[in-house]
Amino acid sequence: MKLLVLLAILGCALAAPKPNFGLREAEACDETVCKPPNCKCFNSSIPGGFEPSEVPQFVYLTFDDAVSTINIDYYRQAFNGRKNPDGCPVQATYYISHEYTDYSLVNELYREGHEIALHSITHTSSTDYWKTQTKEQLIAEFGGERKMMAHFANIPEDEIKGMRMPLLQLAGDNSFTAAQEVGMNYDCSWPTSTRVWPYTLDYKSTQECSIPPCPTSSIPGFWVQPMVNLKDSQGTICSMVDACPNIKDDVDDVFNFLKSNFDRSYEGNRSPIGFYMHAAWFPRLPEHSFEGYLKFLDYLQTLDDVYIIGVERGLEWVRNPVKLGEQLWPSCQQPAEAPCKAKSCQLKKGEEERYMTQCLNSCPKVYPWLGNPLGEE
Ligand SMILES: [Zn+2]
Repeated sequence: MKLLVLLAILGCALAAPKPNFGLREAEACDETVCKPPNCKCFNSSIPGGFEPSEVPQFVYLTFDDAVSTINIDYYRQAFNGRKNPDGCPVQATYYISHEYTDYSLVNELYREGHEIALHSITHTSSTDYWKTQTKEQLIAEFGGERKMMAHFANIPEDEIKGMRMPLLQLAGDNSFTAAQEVGMNYDCSWPTSTRVWPYTLDYKSTQECSIPPCPTSSIPGFWVQPMVNLKDSQGTICSMVDACPNIKDDVDDVFNFLKSNFDRSYEGNRSPIGFYMHAAWFPRLPEHSFEGYLKFLDYLQTLDDVYIIGVERGLEWVRNPVKLGEQLWPSCQQPAEAPCKAKSCQLKKGEEERYMTQCLNSCPKVYPWLGNPLGEE
């Protein structure tokens, strides 16, 4: 009888999982208690109590979706050989989805010192799918993809710290508890129109929730890097560069769009400014829009207090803020030894053929996918 009651309770629990189970509701943030390195409130104030002129301006250049032979040349051309004012190579951040990704190219980006981050296995194009994900489902999507990166691109798993939800669709607390459970450190999917610095979810976030559900529970030590909205020449707001419609196919128009959005942070509270996009945006317009992007990078490099870095590296500074003129990080980003001899594998995804290039000598038995990220038999 007791067993039956227990089974009934368990059955109920399984049928209707409480998303907030085991979590406590986040309370208002108190800046005197919540301090870096492990806690930070949602606000516009500069870490360390510095003045804007005393801190570096961080610029995040990120690209979403598959890394492949279609887009790698943009990345090589944009970033190879560029240095930050401290002499360290510039870094971009790649939020990579699994399908069509060439893992040997992910390995190349990693060895160039860029940040490798996650964007899910299935990259399903339905907001409902992402909105209703349970923690376990998200662990399969993102934890599974983290394993793929380590296995097929030969990247140390614990160096993968960040994620972005497809369609920027959060799943409330679940997005963050799942990410934390698989060992990640931050999320960069949550748009805002306020120029804020990144913050942790120890306490209640007062960031506007434009794509609900947003988290309501306390998730200690997990960082949110808000996506500060961009504005195009007609005043249209967008979270990602690709979504701003009023950029003409002209070098100067692209340059001016990027620079004017950069200036709002650089001349303001110097909160990190991100230009989040898909490389597919470049060929969508005549070639020279990429020249506008390169012109912007050239411009940034004339400024000795501007750093093009990965999001995780920015968070490192936020945890231990030091003034300009001092050493901002203990050393340059140093990728681990990560040899890769590219091998192309012909696999089947259902009835469809997939070529997956990766760093191992042998091919997976089946096409790696949700629930079987290493493609084992
Ligand atoms: Zn995407």
